[in-house]
Amino acid sequence: QQQPSVTVIGLGPMGQAMVRAYLRKGYAVTVWNRTPSRAEPLVAEGAVLAASAEEALAANELVVLSLTDCAAMYALLGPAAHALRGRTVANLSSDTPERAREAAEWATGHGARYLTAGVAVSPAQVGTPDGYAYYSGPEELVEEHRDALEVLSRIEYRGEDQGRAALHYQVQMDLFWTSMTAWLHSVAVAEANGVSAEELLPDAVDTAASLPYFFRFYTPRLVAGNIEGDAERLSMGVASMEHVVDTARSAGVDPSLPSAVLGAFRRAMDAGHAADSFTSVRRVLHAPRG
Ligand code: NDP
Repeated sequence: QQQPSVTVIGLGPMGQAMVRAYLRKGYAVTVWNRTPSRAEPLVAEGAVLAASAEEALAANELVVLSLTDCAAMYALLGPAAHALRGRTVANLSSDTPERAREAAEWATGHGARYLTAGVAVSPAQVGTPDGYAYYSGPEELVEEHRDALEVLSRIEYRGEDQGRAALHYQVQMDLFWTSMTAWLHSVAVAEANGVSAEELLPDAVDTAASLPYFFRFYTPRLVAGNIEGDAERLSMGVASMEHVVDTARSAGVDPSLPSAVLGAFRRAMDAGHAADSFTSVRRVLHAPRG
């Protein structure tokens, strides 16, 4: 049986993990990166560094992109766009749904077949059973390349719209980065008071582990438009967030992150939701249209 093969373009931490996952599975892997030196350890492990982006595209039918954003794709592949014809490009780079759709149009306009994806796990989880990624684009293309794509992660297919995988990815990053930064902020406040991050860890884990309960409790209520203040009231949330902001301020920690939350809570209060649930904040979150 012929050795399976793939091209991986983009060798940041994520692209490197992808190359290693393919090498472990016995794939012949051709790589390309703006900074060629990043390929050196991978070449030592068996990957082949192409001489140009054009050669990287020519080497294999399946081309996996792992780049910072779509702009990096245009920068790298724009000069070699003619070599996209007949390739299947799986773009596992982050970007907005709109830019993901534009990128798909650009690549298919040059004769490629195209999938958008968003990897929802860390590089260490790539190629492990914990790994998963959102995919969108032509379903038959996912099926055609399922074996090769599943070397990287489980596939969470989200439909034909090329922007859809990006949307699912971005809303999870919205939750992830904001939550992780809230954790860093809480560590800063604790440390300023002589409590170490290590000491804080069990409590932080307990608080984070309580979140799924609340997601499940409030989701049916959000869907039903129920903002009843029977479990908690926004007036309590405002007082609570004022205490958080004041505690940060006293510790000499920049309070802008909890202040942003407090600001949203106050806007909902001003809109008449003091006695409703904090989920009434959902109603004041839309940016003014201009
Ligand atoms: P990086 O941003 O570290 O690097 C990705 C690659 O993009 C590098 O190869 C870099 O080249 C290239 N690149 C960036 N800008 C340009 C440009 N203008 N022209 C040419 N090449 C460019 O990303 P990661 O490897 O960490 O991640 C890749 C993708 O996966 C990102 O979209 C990220 O959001 C996503 N992701 C990352 C996770 C992580 O924990 N790392 C987790 C989940 C998803 P060079 O080496 O020359 O700088």
